Amino acid sequence: MMNRELAEWLDQQLEDLKRQHLYKPLVALDSPCGPRITVNGRPNVINLASNNYLGLANDDRLKAAAKAAVDQFGAGAGAVRTITGTFRLHLELEERLARFKHVEAAILFQSGFTANAGTIPTIVTREDCIISDELNHASIIDGCRLAGLPSSQRLVYRHSDMESLEEQLKQAESYKKRLIITDGVFSMDGDIAPLPAIVELAESYGAAVMVDDAHGSGVLGGGRGTAFHFGLQDRIDVQLGTLSKAVGVMGGYIAGSRRLIDWLQQRSRPFLFSTAPPPAVVAAIIAALEIMETDPSLNARLWENARYWKSGLKTLGYDTGISETPITPVMIGEESAALEMQNRLLDERVLALAIVFPTVARGKARLRTMPSAMHSREDLDEALRVFGRLKDKSGS
Ligand code: PMP
Repeated sequence: MMNRELAEWLDQQLEDLKRQHLYKPLVALDSPCGPRITVNGRPNVINLASNNYLGLANDDRLKAAAKAAVDQFGAGAGAVRTITGTFRLHLELEERLARFKHVEAAILFQSGFTANAGTIPTIVTREDCIISDELNHASIIDGCRLAGLPSSQRLVYRHSDMESLEEQLKQAESYKKRLIITDGVFSMDGDIAPLPAIVELAESYGAAVMVDDAHGSGVLGGGRGTAFHFGLQDRIDVQLGTLSKAVGVMGGYIAGSRRLIDWLQQRSRPFLFSTAPPPAVVAAIIAALEIMETDPSLNARLWENARYWKSGLKTLGYDTGISETPITPVMIGEESAALEMQNRLLDERVLALAIVFPTVARGKARLRTMPSAMHSREDLDEALRVFGRLKDKSGS
């Protein structure tokens, strides 16, 4: 029997969530993560909800690489990287990532989340100050919390607002190191961080810059990310990428100078204390990088589909906010209206998830849609027809 106090507390918390319409049941897939999926037993649903930007999650070449690695090296890595968990494959991947990003070195983590949580606290000390965009991802926020700095040394600037960033840089001048952290592409609005202005300010105030490029990896800069998109890869101190979205597998990495990566290998806690990614995962990522490096057509297709999708929604009269990337919010406003729209879309076999408070501000509820390279024109046209019918019915 479960502890009574814990059980009562859990029941109470869950009830509270349900009352506030914040309780989210899981959506279960019975198919690969493709352009059309079987979800909750319902087949042929157009999938606009995944981060599988290039369609690599179900690519035959990645699957073959994973299978071959299982046969050659087994199912699991068996230890953390610093014991016997470093296979030659891990080193090969890290070298390839560094080359792909045009930087000196890279270090692999079990996820993008872990990369943030394992890096931020490892590169700041009690004498330092973090300056973070207000819309940064939860894993950056947790990484900052893990750094254990008092709130006076964890400053937040208004979203992509360079005046606000400069104010905070002035406030932080007395600290030894100052680390500005921003998402490269913001995951809820699809806008791109103004990296050239951030780097200018950072350099004039002597601050370091870290970019979390989870949604820029595989998408911007021909796939090399937001820093590369702006030609700033030599002026960003710490680049974080994920291998779980466009790259189609699972994992995260930090790319930067040799000394940064050396230090993280020695001191980053998830690298030291959590088992290495399995060989099959690593082999599949290497296959994905090979494709991204040699075949620009997937990235081109992603952008072509993103432009087509956005202009289709706009023609129907929908507001897609400030998106500049394939992440395309459909702004709704009311939380209940967004949740209802999600259900009505699913009734018509289109999956797009409602994003509501507290993930976004109250009254800024939206559906987040993500076209990918794998969608055909037919998929997108069919989904647009559904969005059109819902617009007609709502009369808005
Ligand atoms: N950073 C950002 C900005 C993200 O959107 C995400 C994924 N939601 C992550 C980090 C975490 O990446 P992963 O899924 O690889 O843990």
